[in-house]
Amino acid sequence: MEYAFFEGRFVPIEEANINIKTNSFHYGTAIFEGLRAYWNEREEQLYILFAREHYERLIRNARSLFMDLPYTVDDLVEITKDLLRKNEIREDVYIRPIVYFKDLALTPKLIGYTPEIAIYTYNFGRYLDTSKGIRVKVSSWRRNDDNSIPSRWKVAGAYINSALAKTEALMAGYDEALMLNSQGFVAEGSGENIFLIRDGKAITPSYSDHILEGITRKAVITLLRNDLLVEVEERPVARSELYVADEIFLTGTAAEVTPVIEVDNRKVGGGKIGEITRQLQEIYFNAVRGRVERYKSWLTPVYES
Ligand code: PMP
Repeated sequence: MEYAFFEGRFVPIEEANINIKTNSFHYGTAIFEGLRAYWNEREEQLYILFAREHYERLIRNARSLFMDLPYTVDDLVEITKDLLRKNEIREDVYIRPIVYFKDLALTPKLIGYTPEIAIYTYNFGRYLDTSKGIRVKVSSWRRNDDNSIPSRWKVAGAYINSALAKTEALMAGYDEALMLNSQGFVAEGSGENIFLIRDGKAITPSYSDHILEGITRKAVITLLRNDLLVEVEERPVARSELYVADEIFLTGTAAEVTPVIEVDNRKVGGGKIGEITRQLQEIYFNAVRGRVERYKSWLTPVYES
């Protein structure tokens, strides 16, 4: 039996349904998260990656939209562990929490409504091809401006911007879109942050470049600096820097560390996965599965050991 956490309790997934009159369904005023949990076969343990960080971001983002939940970060981590145990998950899995206004009311506003949270598990598998690398296209769609719909928040309605860019890229035969921000600098992918490697240094757009404050981005900065001894610059990135980069990769909970081997029909590096990207992938995939002792603090075990 598959369960979801819905309206304050665990219910069979078939019963976790909202009414068509639900306010957030109409106006996209929902805040969501995406977490992954990784199965460690040797330890027979399921590890949730960055559980606290995701729920801290969710609660902070929700507050920005006047959605105050009656749950703490610790409560939500415990609920998620319970859900994974109830669903008897013994493989890699994706977890989707979503906060929404449950009121059956038709005004696009953020006050006077009741926030609710739902959490369910999803078998995502591989989101982008992390083994071969992907081909990307700079989109004709600009990333949401912070003064319109902040990209910093994972707000449902904002994802029309990602959907437009991703669709354009797929229809043109590419795997993913890169979006520029309203100032014309590189922002991010439709669901990923971006890093460039040039002359042995890493460069990534900063928090003021109209991007999501990616949790994987932050972890990857740590790995680059501490493990690969690669300097990281956070600053505005010009479009043409993409074409002269030695390596490019995307980061995200779903995308993990995805190498980019082509941008706008120009090969990145030699059109193969770069050395720093390859090393980063190796340590990232080991860390998230609990195979790197010093990064075990990233993980929340689900089962009693
Ligand atoms: N940018 C966007 C637009 C995203 O949707 C995501 C996925 N959450 C990311 C970046 C990566 O964020 P994270 O590493 O926190 O998953």
